[in-house]
Amino acid sequence: MENVTIVGSGCAGLTAAIYAARANLNPLVIEGWEPGGQLTLTTLVENFPGFPEGVLGPELISRMKEQAAKFGARYLRGSVTAADLRSRPFRLTLEEETLETRALVLANGASARLLGLPSEKQLMGHGVSTCATCDGFFYRGRKVVVVGGGDSAMEESLFLTRFATEVAVIHRRDQFRASKIMIDRARRNDKIRFILDTVVDNIQDPAQGVVTAVTLRNVKSSARTELPTDGVFIAIGHRPNTEVFQRQLELDKDGYILTHSHVRTSVEGVFAAGDVQDREWRQAVTAAGSGCAAAMAAARWLEAQQ
Ligand code: NAP
Repeated sequence: MENVTIVGSGCAGLTAAIYAARANLNPLVIEGWEPGGQLTLTTLVENFPGFPEGVLGPELISRMKEQAAKFGARYLRGSVTAADLRSRPFRLTLEEETLETRALVLANGASARLLGLPSEKQLMGHGVSTCATCDGFFYRGRKVVVVGGGDSAMEESLFLTRFATEVAVIHRRDQFRASKIMIDRARRNDKIRFILDTVVDNIQDPAQGVVTAVTLRNVKSSARTELPTDGVFIAIGHRPNTEVFQRQLELDKDGYILTHSHVRTSVEGVFAAGDVQDREWRQAVTAAGSGCAAAMAAARWLEAQQ
């Protein structure tokens, strides 16, 4: 029987692990099959407090992991394939084993939706990004493209105009999903131009290890063009990793876990932290903050049970 099981090993999960371990709860972290969360997809992180020179995303994660292990956190590779949160202790099924836990912290994140191109995967963190706030700074004086037609695409494009000389928004339709106010704001910005009814067929150039251009296809005329660019920001939405908790926890219409008092879910003893419950801020530091709160709330809740 575990005291606290933490599902997820990104910033939120590992911060929860540090706090739970220091509360002597000997937490078990279920790392997933791609440990480390979204920070492992990025290169230099310049906005995490305490690192004036920046820190590499994978290094930040590996140091958090080491820090939690130092205080007694244990790690298990694998992912939760089923969960029973209807009675206590909670039961989690991994691929080949089942475990029981008194308290549960869900910090298994949200995945940025991707276009599904092999070149996108190869160049992720090397010119392809899913976070303008994280990576926009590297594009000072450069040209970038943003893919998407929702509020995120508008927001990221506007943010990128602080650095880039030109932002081309590539959207697959001629109607936007974004709110009118955001579209108007983007339209008024001289640095932003729109390329509509168009999809990205390829990102170049994985052989060089940097982004040099995108291959575009107009979906109406099928015409193909090359657009030279230095960076590609994919802003086509996120998907919270909550499939296995559906019908057991209250989720919002898009599947994010609904929390009250910061980190408490609709099931007593189950806490949620990071992007799995945060559709708005999605930053490493906000994820770490909610991971801390979730672990402290779990510790207090366990104490009250005794
Ligand atoms: P979203 O509203 O779901 O928009 C996703 C956009 O990406 C859509 O335009 C969609 O095209 C496009 N898209 C999806 N899959 C694609 C693919 N495979 N290839 C090319 N394009 C694709 O997601 P979001 O913009 O991240 O916003 C999520 C939520 O957060 C929304 O409720 C939004 O209002 C909110 N939000 C608000 C703000 C703000 O108010 N400041 C900022 C950010 C987000 P189609 O339109 O053709 O489907």
